[in-house]
Amino acid sequence: MVTLHGKGVYGGIAIGRLSFLRRRGMSVRRRTVSDTAAELVRFEIARQRAISELGKLHEKALRNIGESGAQIFEIHQMMLEDDDYVDSIVNTIRTERVGAEYAVATAAENFSMVFSSMDDPYMQARAADVRDISNRLIEALSGKEEAKSQFSEEARIVCADDLAPSETMQLDRESVSAFITAEGSVNSHTAILARTMGIPAVVDVGEALLDAADGTEAIVDGFTGKIYLSPDEATLTQMRAKREKDLHAKALLEKYKGMDNVTLDGTRIDIFANIQGLREVGAALLHDAGGIGLFRSEFLYLDREDFPDEEEQFQVYKTVLQSMGGKKVVIRTMDVGADKQVNYFGLDKEENPAMGMRAIRICLCRPEVFRPQLRALLRASVFGNLAVMFPMITSCVEVEEIKRLIAEVKKELKKEKLPFSESTEFGIMIETPAAAIISDRLAPLVDFFSIGTNDLTQYTLALDRQNRSLSAFFDPHHEAVLRLIEFTAENAHRHGKWIGICGELASDLSQTERFLRMGIDELSVSPAYILPLRDKIRNLDLRNPKGE
Ligand code: PEP
Ligand code: MG
Repeated sequence: MVTLHGKGVYGGIAIGRLSFLRRRGMSVRRRTVSDTAAELVRFEIARQRAISELGKLHEKALRNIGESGAQIFEIHQMMLEDDDYVDSIVNTIRTERVGAEYAVATAAENFSMVFSSMDDPYMQARAADVRDISNRLIEALSGKEEAKSQFSEEARIVCADDLAPSETMQLDRESVSAFITAEGSVNSHTAILARTMGIPAVVDVGEALLDAADGTEAIVDGFTGKIYLSPDEATLTQMRAKREKDLHAKALLEKYKGMDNVTLDGTRIDIFANIQGLREVGAALLHDAGGIGLFRSEFLYLDREDFPDEEEQFQVYKTVLQSMGGKKVVIRTMDVGADKQVNYFGLDKEENPAMGMRAIRICLCRPEVFRPQLRALLRASVFGNLAVMFPMITSCVEVEEIKRLIAEVKKELKKEKLPFSESTEFGIMIETPAAAIISDRLAPLVDFFSIGTNDLTQYTLALDRQNRSLSAFFDPHHEAVLRLIEFTAENAHRHGKWIGICGELASDLSQTERFLRMGIDELSVSPAYILPLRDKIRNLDLRNPKGE
């Protein structure tokens, strides 16, 4: 057995045989032409045909996977209309007196090289898009009908050096159980499409993938990014069990997908997903999340040597927003500190880090760290329905200071002519008793509250959530915690603000009825809890006396 490691872009287990992508011959000969005018006409006809094919692909994607996934084909249409790209082809035909195919292939090589050499991972990923549109143009120039599917019927685990978004779109969900690519990035549109289509996928596996033989038996674990070639019996058994579990969860999805989160008496609540990064967006969508209720942005700052810059953050937030296609995405500003220590922040060693320099305290003391995140968030806001929330709030002064910084950043962006959405909501996490107790004062300052029951329990019970020897005392059902939640909900509603719960208690089915009776508007839970929670809610009847 050989184990390869890549980056999982969509969870799921596939067991099958490798099937290498056989692309239609794209080798292009340099051909001299005497009539360049006729060649330019040929090119123009092909370009229009490619644009119209993309229009059809866009419609198909809209029907199958929705607006966010379909957007890439609009982008490709725009790329085919890009003056620099088109001019470069036209000039090559004119000056070198060569066939249009060769001119397109040359432009593809030049433009994709420029993109690949850029530092920004998002721009690097655009190299695949240029190659994709250029291949489409060369197909169109050949005059052949567009290939319906480039994959054979028996294709199971599709392997390729890289996959273009349009190739991914053509994967037949019935006959393809997963795809793996030697190259590719988790930010690429291909990866977004994989998540949206729900195809287990691993990218960036490396050259070793291409050495494997067509037809090799393999297991793809999209959760861990591992590929097992010619797996042994023990691995097969283990992965079959993992697949069963996953399929069972997906079967529950079939039953509940698209259903409302509504009780028998008609009380509604939103169920959103908690995620740590882009990788889980697919799981959130697959489990039918109404939105993202907690994106723990600090995970962008962990396991690295230096701060993620504004641009990197912008690309990640933008991708989440686009992937969620208009559904609300609540991004929490970074909650570094306490159990999430990051060396390059250079924080002093503390006796009691849970009560120390953490989260919003770092942000307010070091605006040079906070500002790039605020800028990235605001810039991303135009790509979807963004809400931003701030962790570890204890006072109105903190919220006022945050609002002052936001106003400054907005002013800056306006000056730089960088667009942002004025309708972005700003909320705070209620995870300290202080915030819960002054929630009547905090509510008028914000658009929403989200209760972090993990920390609220820790700070209310004066009990370190990291201390395993105290776990018997860690009781989120403690009446003090539940009363603080109820009190906060009353204050939120008195001021017309919505309130959610994003701590672990949100997925505790024994508390669901109580939360509904409090009028909690949203519960945000790990993707796998969404459907069990929906099941619970749909069987509750609040007309019954409490607890029945
Ligand atoms: C919480 O405290 O409940 C919460 C959701 O935040 P975290 O668990 O990330 O501290
Ligand atoms: Mg917390």
